[in-house]
Amino acid sequence: MPNADGGIQTRPPRAPVSGKQALRSLDAPATAGYHIQNSPCKERHLVIVLDLDGVVYRGETPVPGAVPSLNLLSQRSYSLFFLTNNSTRSRRHYAQKLARMGIPARPDQVVTSSHVTGCYLSERGAAGRTVYTIGEEGMAEELALAGLRVLPDDTEEQADYVVVGLDRKLTYARLARAYDQVRGGAAFIATNRDATYPIEGGREIPGGGAMVAALACATGVEPVTVGKPETHPWRLILSVTGAAPEEALMVGDRAETDILGAKRLGMRTALVLTGVTRAEEVPGLPEECQPDVVLPSLAGLPPLVEEWEAARQVRRPGVPKAFGTAGRAGG
Ligand SMILES: [Mg+2]
Repeated sequence: MPNADGGIQTRPPRAPVSGKQALRSLDAPATAGYHIQNSPCKERHLVIVLDLDGVVYRGETPVPGAVPSLNLLSQRSYSLFFLTNNSTRSRRHYAQKLARMGIPARPDQVVTSSHVTGCYLSERGAAGRTVYTIGEEGMAEELALAGLRVLPDDTEEQADYVVVGLDRKLTYARLARAYDQVRGGAAFIATNRDATYPIEGGREIPGGGAMVAALACATGVEPVTVGKPETHPWRLILSVTGAAPEEALMVGDRAETDILGAKRLGMRTALVLTGVTRAEEVPGLPEECQPDVVLPSLAGLPPLVEEWEAARQVRRPGVPKAFGTAGRAGG
């Protein structure tokens, strides 16, 4: 929560937390109970969180400038995290995909909406409980890793949870089964509500939000949403790194999810124009979706980050305030 001087609530420095402790913080509202800090974190540099689709790549093709920019930032010891609302694949899959493109990444640098959903449910005591899914293999893998028992498509067993994300093989029979589960008392969880995803050739495909809307329409139940623009994914990353929000930068292509959610936590934000939100749309974005900076592509990220980092180093150990002014959107 901002102080009168525009900074973030002061809390004592803390050591990086374990995974279980990090997950516990998901329970807390964004501005209460969460251990936001404004002292220098353990990371030497800014923590950089990048959306994937439309930022790092489109489909199977890296966006121009992405590979050299991210390699440069890695070599300079910035902590990179890759955050996607796409629920269809596991973290392991995305790490392998990035590596194939020439961007070295470990699975623990990847945060998917399925992973965050697994963390969210695990933190609420869901280990060992049952879940029925509308989603693909990666969702089932992440939910199983979180300790849930994933029921088969044709199950007659009543589930404790129904989790819904993008499912490119969704059938009416499974939608009807999910309907029965929610009407039977299962908690309805959406990994995300993205209407579409960008793919190669400037095309888009219907996203997880389309499946969520179908089930919400049928059941009359609004789900709990876990992915962007809800703040759970970023809070997980901040907890794991020990970084304060102003020590972290979100780079996204979709203002109403990537920028909105990161701004809610007080993170720095950069919008790239290689994905969903177009340059001509930026001036008309609501204030809560306005990025700090607009970049044509990731090619412009290293000089921006270096400038911000230099300003951050100069300010240490002074009073943390907004740093870096170059290229701010909307003046
Ligand atoms: Mg995107």
